[in-house]
Amino acid sequence: MIVLMGGQGVGKGTFARMLCERHKYKYIETGKMLRDAAATNPTVGEIMARGELLPFEMLTDLVANSLNCDSDVLLDGFPRTIDQATWLVNNYANKFDIHVLYLNVPEEIMIARIQKRIRDGGGRADDADTAAVRKRLDIFWKTTMPAIEWMQSVPNIKFSDIEVTGAVDDNFKNILTALGK
Ligand code: AMP
Repeated sequence: MIVLMGGQGVGKGTFARMLCERHKYKYIETGKMLRDAAATNPTVGEIMARGELLPFEMLTDLVANSLNCDSDVLLDGFPRTIDQATWLVNNYANKFDIHVLYLNVPEEIMIARIQKRIRDGGGRADDADTAAVRKRLDIFWKTTMPAIEWMQSVPNIKFSDIEVTGAVDDNFKNILTALGK
């Protein structure tokens, strides 16, 4: 199991696609699953539009269903809190070899990449709202960063801190090196 962790706009989706071109992973992207859920559940859409996190049980149900498989998996967007990280480790560390890739970039670059995503017409409603972007960045530093640090402290979990501030191909090479490929 590869777990992609990092802030907004660090390129999780891009690197996930590149990894999936090289190996058959089951790609589990919680943001996409929740955007799909929002189509029929307005409350989910409202929470996402504000840049806030959805409740623990909703995420663990979604992820547990997706992890009911025998393939290698690539997890993107989960865990985002220490509770979610603890749940993942307690329930799945015995089933999967977990390797966390922390995609590390400074906040200025996250903001610049979100702005580029808006200019390129990525079409994410939560990118266009400045207050929602700020909220997501705050949640990343206050809530997700402690979860990343906690994952780093867990024995038997591989953890790689990868600076992804360069060109996409160079960053991807560093990711492959961390994965031993
Ligand atoms: P993303 O596409 O990963 O940026 O996720 C978009 C939005 O989905 C987030 O801003 C949250 O509202 C929600 N979301 C995605 N993953 C999680 C998670 N692990 N826990 C709670 N909410 C999440």
